[in-house]
Amino acid sequence: MTKYDVDLFVIGGGSGGVRASRIAAGHGAKVALAEERYLGGTCVNVGCVPKKLLVYASHYSEHFEDAAGFGWTVGEQHFNWAALIANKNKEIARLNGIYRKLLEDAGVEIFTARALLLDAHTVEAAGRRIGAETILVAIGGWPVMPSIPGVEHAISSNEAFFLKALPARVAVVGGGYIACEFAGIFNGLGSRVTQLYRGPLFLRGFDTDVRAHLADEMRKKRIDLRFNAEIARIEKTGSTLHATLTTGDAIDVDCVMFATGRAPHTSGAGLDAAGVELDRHGAVVVDDYSRTSVPNIYAVGDVTNRINLTPVAIAEGHAFADTVFGKMPVKPDHVNVPHAVFSHPE
Ligand code: NDP
Repeated sequence: MTKYDVDLFVIGGGSGGVRASRIAAGHGAKVALAEERYLGGTCVNVGCVPKKLLVYASHYSEHFEDAAGFGWTVGEQHFNWAALIANKNKEIARLNGIYRKLLEDAGVEIFTARALLLDAHTVEAAGRRIGAETILVAIGGWPVMPSIPGVEHAISSNEAFFLKALPARVAVVGGGYIACEFAGIFNGLGSRVTQLYRGPLFLRGFDTDVRAHLADEMRKKRIDLRFNAEIARIEKTGSTLHATLTTGDAIDVDCVMFATGRAPHTSGAGLDAAGVELDRHGAVVVDDYSRTSVPNIYAVGDVTNRINLTPVAIAEGHAFADTVFGKMPVKPDHVNVPHAVFSHPE
């Protein structure tokens, strides 16, 4: 044991932070973890897991349509958004509990609080100051909203998971993973969907044939895809949102969802007090072993903006713990990482 209270203090209870905590504790380290919002982070709470449940739900409309051709008689169908969201919330609560149990069973002390770095070896959480030999920053990312007039009437994917009702008309802005996935979700569940993307063809960086094929298929499913188009401003009248587009057109919808990227969630964590270097996008700069510019502070996951995927954060967290506490230097491998977009079709 060192002169510090703990060997490792982990800030952030998402995929990377939880994996790192458990593995470090398994190597014999005394570990504490602070999470102010929800255990499991973006993936479990407002990302992969609930998204996939909504994707499953959204496929049923097509399955019902196809069923007769395969000899099935399906009765009259009704979709209940509130029931879907309630069941989704129940499943997420179950997973939150599993994450807590995994940490507790590993002997990790959990602070349900925001943690602030006071210096390179001191963290403040829940009114306590904790000295840590090593600190891991795993505080993730957060949706970026554009600065346009009326943006306060719009939501990000964070809020989409908790909408009180399924909007009858939705505008989804963006051409990345989240926009393509939510366009399919809302459309499959019965909303009229307009997806707007600023460039000529969405999913920039993916195979061109696949992108064009997906656009054709989404149009066949009656999604109104508008490329080279963005929302310039939003005005609210009653419950209707009037969105004026950069093309000069306008659309009336009940919900505007921006999926225009996510940024490292670094503000207010005290990274400057500890002297941790950020890049021009606000991401924590790390070396091949996830070490920051401060030798005893490491960072993994979306906050480092390398490849922002759950399995990557898990691999980075695991490699960090093996390197620092397991005497097994491991560099997380960022080559040939597969990506999947759960659009319709995937
Ligand atoms: P992406 O980076 O995938 O896409 C952002 C989209 O928004 C792009 O189409 C981009 O356009 C556009 N955009 C960016 N800024 C603006 C702006 N100011 N005005 C208009 N359009 C803009 O981000 P997402 O939000 O979709 O997802 C965030 C991250 O979450 C992903 O990068 C991914 O790592 C992760 N994720 C992974 C999933 C999966 O594995 N299935 C699912 C969901 C999220 P352009 O292309 O022109 O830059």
